[in-house]
Amino acid sequence: MGYVLTTAIGVLVVAIVAGAMFVRKENRTTEAPPGGALRRAIRRVAAGDRCRCGGTVRSTSSQSGDLLGCTACNRWWTMDGRRIIQR
Ligand SMILES: [Zn+2]
Repeated sequence: MGYVLTTAIGVLVVAIVAGAMFVRKENRTTEAPPGGALRRAIRRVAAGDRCRCGGTVRSTSSQSGDLLGCTACNRWWTMDGRRIIQR
C-alpha cells in the first residue's frame, strides 16, 4: 500500500511540474508573438520619421520611460516602434 501511495504522490508531483512548465511556456508565447504576417502588418516608426498627420516623430521621456511621440498629434509609440493605443 505504501508503494502505491508513493507512486501516486510521484505522479502528482510530475503532473504539477509539467503543468507549471506548460503555463510558463504559454505566457512566453503571449509576451512575444511569432513574427510573420502579424508583425509585417504593424507599421513600425522610428525617431525622425514622418507621422501620418504630417508631424515628426521624436523620442521623449515620460513617466513610463522613453517613448516616441508625434510633435503635431497625440500618437505615441514604444521605442521599438510599436503604436501605443491610448484609451
Ligand atoms: Zn502625428
